[in-house]
Amino acid sequence: MNLIKRWRYLDMSRETVENLSYRVSYDNLRVLRTIGYAFSIIAVISSACYFLIGRDWVRGLELIGFSMLSFIIFIEAKRLLGMQSTDVVRHANRIITVFQLLTLAEASFLGLYDHIHPAGIIIAALIAMPVSFDLFPKRNLIAVLTGLVCFNVGSFILKSREIFVYDVVNTTIVAAVGLILAWKKAKDKWEHEDATELIEKQNSTLYKSSTTDPLTGLTNRRTAFAKLEVMTAEAHVSNKEIVCLIMDVDNFKKYNDTYGHPEGDKLLASLGEILCDMAKVYDVNISRIGGEEFMAFWRPVSSMDSKKFAREVIFRVHEIRHPDAGKGIHSTVSIGIYDAVPGDTVSANEVYVMADKALYLAKSNGRDRYEYYDKSNED
Ligand code: GH3
Ligand code: MG
Ligand code: MG
Repeated sequence: MNLIKRWRYLDMSRETVENLSYRVSYDNLRVLRTIGYAFSIIAVISSACYFLIGRDWVRGLELIGFSMLSFIIFIEAKRLLGMQSTDVVRHANRIITVFQLLTLAEASFLGLYDHIHPAGIIIAALIAMPVSFDLFPKRNLIAVLTGLVCFNVGSFILKSREIFVYDVVNTTIVAAVGLILAWKKAKDKWEHEDATELIEKQNSTLYKSSTTDPLTGLTNRRTAFAKLEVMTAEAHVSNKEIVCLIMDVDNFKKYNDTYGHPEGDKLLASLGEILCDMAKVYDVNISRIGGEEFMAFWRPVSSMDSKKFAREVIFRVHEIRHPDAGKGIHSTVSIGIYDAVPGDTVSANEVYVMADKALYLAKSNGRDRYEYYDKSNED
């Protein structure tokens, strides 16, 4: 029982094998597309040889038929390769089994046509068919056994007893070898896909954890500055503006001291939710760049304007619920805005410094407000 299970699921768990079928099916379809195409051409050429040289109309016509069916299978494989659906696994397995049976029937026909010699072409087909595709062993077994039985029944009817015995022995050995090789090959393939999927998952987790702030779900400081760097460089080339806002929670130390750090974390998480939402709605970059400090930036190609954005943040922060509003502490943010004009040549760091200066202005003007960076204040 255990042995059958091991054989059926390639020594892996059923779930693993079934989960990976989707990936493997596309590779199988690529093989089917190539073989279908090659067979349709080879069969036409060999049918021409039978017609013209051998004057053998039966084989010639039969090969034309095989060529047409191979071509239909080639077209179907191509169509399925263009589909992005889990149905592909089912369709692919079905059409591959049809193709295997068709090829084995064709090989049987050619093998039986010459009833003086033992099986030739069927032997090659019994190995090549299961080995060409990475399928569940059961599917290979169905196709190979059907081909084997049909051929040997034909051999029993058409050939001499001696040749029939050769056919049975030869085809049985070859079918067994083909099935073992196919099992091994499919197992290697599934293990490879399993390892690849694991690496892809780990890479994506690693990428996410190295670019995202875990408390708020926003991108982190490193990612924000890398993006800002790219955006400012592009802004120089295309002479477009860039908008950058630095947002800082007001009196956050006092908030922590009053409610405790876990409540402070909750406030940051709520603010993170608001900003994540706004990032999606307005399609702008927003990151947590420090403890209670956030940065938003964009190229003002959309209808989003910095004033509207800042007002919405301030308004939505007022709405955040507190553990105990009676203690007289409300959550507010101050925002500094740098709104560059076309032609300004500024680096990412300069953008940040100027928005930060505007933030200090907002703090010194009483907090819970936004201020723009004003160059004239520098002079
Ligand atoms: P201001 O209005 O001038 O910005 O005052 P502030 O109290 O917000 O600023 P200050 O820089 O004095 O204090 C920031 C506080 O933010 C201090 C630090 O304990 C807290 N903080 C930084 N990161 C976190 C965090 O991840 N969680 C919590 N709960 N607190 C944090
Ligand atoms: Mg603060
Ligand atoms: Mg701060």
